[in-house]
Amino acid sequence: MEFLIPTRTSRPSDDPIFALNTEARARAAAGEAIINATVGALLDDEGRLSVLGSVAQTLREVPPNVGAGYAPIEGDASFLKAVVADVMGQRPEADWTVAIATPGGSGALRLAMADFLDTGQAALTTSYFWGPYRTIADELDRGLATFRMFDANGRLDGADLEHTLSAQIEAQGRALLFINSPCHNPTGYSFDADEWRQLAAIVGRAADRAPVTLLIDIAYARYGQRSLDEAVDALLGLAGRALLLFAWSASKSFTQYGLRVGALLAVHPDPEARRRIRSALSYSCRGTWSNCNAGGMAAIGRALTDPDLRARTDQERAALKSLLDRRVEAWNSLATDAGLRYPRYDGGFFTTVFCADAFAVAARLKEEGIFVVPQTGALRVALCSVAERDIPRLVQGIARHVTR
Ligand code: PLP
Repeated sequence: MEFLIPTRTSRPSDDPIFALNTEARARAAAGEAIINATVGALLDDEGRLSVLGSVAQTLREVPPNVGAGYAPIEGDASFLKAVVADVMGQRPEADWTVAIATPGGSGALRLAMADFLDTGQAALTTSYFWGPYRTIADELDRGLATFRMFDANGRLDGADLEHTLSAQIEAQGRALLFINSPCHNPTGYSFDADEWRQLAAIVGRAADRAPVTLLIDIAYARYGQRSLDEAVDALLGLAGRALLLFAWSASKSFTQYGLRVGALLAVHPDPEARRRIRSALSYSCRGTWSNCNAGGMAAIGRALTDPDLRARTDQERAALKSLLDRRVEAWNSLATDAGLRYPRYDGGFFTTVFCADAFAVAARLKEEGIFVVPQTGALRVALCSVAERDIPRLVQGIARHVTR
């Protein structure tokens, strides 16, 4: 007798990236010289998780009664205020911003998918995307459509975005667009100011025809060369025309992946629209995870607002960022010489090598002890978890197998 409902009977049992990581770690533990470029966590050159010491200490200092108590459903007010300030700075539009706490950025993506799209409708994202976007859509009986991410010059393919967005509006009367930049996962690409302006113009035109929600996934915002301000400045003009969302996460920016602290921000000038959005989002919170990690919010809220602590955290993060930047630099110089094709990459956890038969190549690399994540037409390389000294072997391995 089958107890699962039909759509759940053939779910894959493990996330493919976590499964590859488990295999890589097991082989490394057995003594093989493994390069594990699969998981999106920043490791030091000895393979240990990099943790911001100041944040870890702040967590230990959370008063027991704060950590043990229930947080408000929509999140701790001072944490939320700090997150809004983190994204909006001193801009007056901070007053137009509703913020709701979520378990990591993933929770924010789930809320957006649940409340700004109807069952059976599809969100739109770039042709290269983080796999869990599809899992989240699937879980909620929504779909995921894509537009071509890069044009012939390797820049945002605005023409394909406009065309696909327009087709979606025709088909479903609304659209929800997920854009992950800076430091897009998996390609490492960060939009420049022109691309943000181009995106704003395209979304603005679409939003004149139907409700369009634009979600910017800023999980990696603190690791890029470009400031998030470029995005915020270019996009704020959309407020009131389109709905602008930011999926904020403490996982990478505070090296607290397991703490599950995040938030969804929604920017709208109309107080009544904000009231409805806040109610819908907090209702969804109640119906999924109830409320978020109280101790986590307290600690991250403090790390964002206490001036001394913030300075210490920024300093520690800068050291991690320069570790990562050295790897990016080594990669760029070696991979360019080796003739690998990959998008503009100036910082962040990942890059992606274009490769026609990515699954076969990843399997061959795995035999040689090099673990990367294949997806259609590309190999994702998580430089965040590769020691600088291993980058020459990584590049040579990929260059040997990749079909150009
Ligand atoms: N968005 C992207 C593109 C990611 O890669 C991740 C994590 O890997 C997230 C969002 C959210 O992460 P978390 O739920 O751990 O905050």
